[in-house]
Amino acid sequence: MQELHQRVCLIHYHEIGLKGRNRSVFEKRLVKNVEALLDGYPVVTIHRISGRLCVFLKEGTTFERALEVAHIVRDVPGVARVSCGFKCERELEIMGQVAVNALAECGDFQSFKVHARRNHTDFETDSMQMNQIIGAVLCQANPDKKVKMKDPDITVTVEVVQNASYIYARSERGIGGLPVGSSGHVVSLLSSGIDSPVALWRLARRGAVCIGVHFSGRPQTSDTSEYLVDDIAHVLEKTGCIARVYVVPLGDYQKEIALMAPPSLRVILYRRLMFKVAEEIARREHAGALVTGESLGQVASQTLDNIRATDNAVELPVFRPLIGTDKLQIIEDAQRLGTFEISSQDAPDCCTLFMPRNPETHAKLAEVLEAESAYPIDEWVRELADAAEPHDYACPSYKPRKRAVQESDDPAKA
Ligand code: ATP
Ligand code: MG
Repeated sequence: MQELHQRVCLIHYHEIGLKGRNRSVFEKRLVKNVEALLDGYPVVTIHRISGRLCVFLKEGTTFERALEVAHIVRDVPGVARVSCGFKCERELEIMGQVAVNALAECGDFQSFKVHARRNHTDFETDSMQMNQIIGAVLCQANPDKKVKMKDPDITVTVEVVQNASYIYARSERGIGGLPVGSSGHVVSLLSSGIDSPVALWRLARRGAVCIGVHFSGRPQTSDTSEYLVDDIAHVLEKTGCIARVYVVPLGDYQKEIALMAPPSLRVILYRRLMFKVAEEIARREHAGALVTGESLGQVASQTLDNIRATDNAVELPVFRPLIGTDKLQIIEDAQRLGTFEISSQDAPDCCTLFMPRNPETHAKLAEVLEAESAYPIDEWVRELADAAEPHDYACPSYKPRKRAVQESDDPAKA
């Protein structure tokens, strides 16, 4: 027997809705991302319906399974809200019954209200009348619950469109932002620490496809940090925002720097080398910016002078989305993102290797450049970028480069 209603997840977006003529490009991107992330779930199709997306679920899909789908969707950049509900015919009797079912799936609540609207006046009952009729059915089915117009625990939404109606009561806030793939590619410096995954995530929420670069202390340290970064990337992968992580073994090069450079300048020199290698990888990946998890004043390398001395090493813009964010807020964000536990584990990486006792906090650029000139930096950058080991993750908006980009492909050098 045909079911009275079909389970759906409705995806509401905010920023995409504000886009003018480009809006459909963003919507298509979001559909592709959601489709790929829901591979393996009981989805029939995903369609655009009057300013939102509707994920149609297979007949027989349980509420629990629909909720799993909603929870995947909730964390996908571009999604402002997701609601679990039903599509049904535009018949008040059926709609009332479906509303009762939708409300029954809301768990514990004390008060509710109905919010009905029609997008087409070809449906003869107006929204006020629908509120009353469906509200009465719900009151009858839930005699112990209160109707409350202001701040009810649950709002049962009834939307009548051209050929159908959509009814939902369970609704959760999404992560917001723009769909990954709508803002180009960035290369994100990813340590196994707390800050950098949050920084990457901020750019992903603005629609950037993120490519991580992790500098390991190998062969001078163990590869523990590489495993932690892989675990972090798997968490980020669930939202479709990370395409690749390049692991770069930096230990031997740091050792070289530590042998000769003034100890106080070591950290700046390591960081300038990291930035240059990341920039070379960005060039090969056609990425338009670097991203770090720096926060002003957090550690010695994050003073204004030192930030200036490292920025000077590269031409690409360096985005620091956490520059004005306190550590406590970053920790909260990492907890919500699901990377905090992994990042809290200790692992030696290139940052813990050959650290000076008193790192410079106000580096003078001239002195840094003088110290750096003792090393064949360009050659090192090429060697390290060639030695970088790519690890791939599922990212629906990323198409891997078929071949390494050659010097001659760089339009700036043509
Ligand atoms: P995090 O918590 O992300 O490790 P942090 O507070 O420890 O940051 P630093 O060690 O000074 O700060 O690093 C600042 C930024 O430099 C990091 O957020 C990250 O973007 C980058 N970075 C540091 N270490 C590495 C590494 N081993 N590989 C790649 N990027 C790194
Ligand atoms: Mg760190």
